[in-house]
Amino acid sequence: SQNREQALRKRYHNQLQDFKGAIRVYARIRPRIKREMGDAVVCRKLDTDSLELEDPKRLKESRPYSFDSVFDEHSTQEDVFSECKSLVSSAFDGFNVTVFAYGQTGAGKTHTMYGNDADPGLVPRLAGELFSIIDKYSHESHSRVKCSMFELYRDELVDLYRTKAGARGLEIKKDTRGSVYVENASDREVANPPELLKAIEDGMADRHVAATSMNSASSRSHLIFIIVVETTNKATKQVSTGKLTLCDLAGSERVKKSEASGEVLKEAQSINKSLSALGDVIEALTKHSKHVPYRNHKLTQLLSDSLGGNAKTLMFVNCSPVGSNADETAAALGYATRAKMITNKVEKNQDSQEVARLKKVIQVMGSELDQARE
Ligand code: ADP
Ligand code: MG
Repeated sequence: SQNREQALRKRYHNQLQDFKGAIRVYARIRPRIKREMGDAVVCRKLDTDSLELEDPKRLKESRPYSFDSVFDEHSTQEDVFSECKSLVSSAFDGFNVTVFAYGQTGAGKTHTMYGNDADPGLVPRLAGELFSIIDKYSHESHSRVKCSMFELYRDELVDLYRTKAGARGLEIKKDTRGSVYVENASDREVANPPELLKAIEDGMADRHVAATSMNSASSRSHLIFIIVVETTNKATKQVSTGKLTLCDLAGSERVKKSEASGEVLKEAQSINKSLSALGDVIEALTKHSKHVPYRNHKLTQLLSDSLGGNAKTLMFVNCSPVGSNADETAAALGYATRAKMITNKVEKNQDSQEVARLKKVIQVMGSELDQARE
């Protein structure tokens, strides 16, 4: 049937995306919250991979947007997790994986990434999945899991596991193998899901302390949680290291001109600068540019081994459904679409090398399938 064909098409598309190491973008529209009940819904899911945003003033036609997946108010945390689960196997296999939540304050980023005790979000679920994979392979390999948590506020990187002495002004470095690390940062080794959850909780608690001392609201800084998994094969002693970087980004809203002065303006400019730097890196990657401007910001510097190359990236664009947020929703959807549009352009231009490479991949897949059948 048509549904089945659509599902197959999507799976095929996702597989190709996997091979291309491209950036996947998922949109999630949250339900209206209590105080919004009088506000009209203008952003709605159309299909498994598209949504539309209506102009609340009805001056323009509503605009469709397409993404790799679209979630709406009926989607559960489990639904979202099940579309992201495979990223954990990638990290276990030694790849670097990055997940972002992008969108204006109140759009549902923290709900998507962390959720709450009653309804945990992606990070605790991915963490649980990681330990179940580790268990599954414990007869042949031994894994160590370490995590660290940083807040990036106005160009200042703060280690949330060392908020007291010397936790500020940390330096981002690269080791000889090209892996990024933060000099003098502390990490925590965790042995099971409860220990990992405790580490998240502790970091969050320290974030509030740090936020108060720096006078920042949590929505105005980036929260970066990093899980490193180091797996040693018991027989060969070979070690593979994978990394999951989970970013709950600062709110993407622009300040209103009337409010923009002094510190508020500086803070907004700093957030804007970091999100543009991230957008520029993603654009360079999707365009296959020779130069990727990782060095333009600490955010992209920190992610430079986890965006592009063999790394896998997933961006959530979180959307409020109501008319009063339509302008910011449009801006966020535009940002997220930038990556997708450029990808499409590459396909249209039939970038011959890329096409040849993918054909080869498909050929190999085909012969592997044939072999499996024999
Ligand atoms: P952000 O982190 O983007 O500022 P939050 O995740 O804090 O936004 O979400 C704002 C509010 O909306 C919170 O009260 C949150 O619980 C609620 N919310 C967000 N997404 C959902 C969802 N998918 N289902 C139910 N409530 C949600
Ligand atoms: Mg938040």
